[in-house]
Amino acid sequence: MNAMPNKTNSMLRCAGCGELFDRTISSSMPFCSEKCRGDDLDNWLTESYGLPHEGEGVPDRVQEDDEEDE
Ligand SMILES: [Zn+2]
Repeated sequence: MNAMPNKTNSMLRCAGCGELFDRTISSSMPFCSEKCRGDDLDNWLTESYGLPHEGEGVPDRVQEDDEEDE
């Protein structure tokens, strides 16, 4: 009887690129690689800075700081 572990149990979908990867070989959970973690962090920082998205037409977030208490 073969006691090989079920590889699929260790497969996760990368939160960055969406590819499946083996979490047992990743040092950048929940990402498949340092690159994906870096890319995601970069995106997150960009979002938090509120930079406008390019090439996405009219943004959903039209509510800026127009409403000020008087
Ligand atoms: Zn990835």
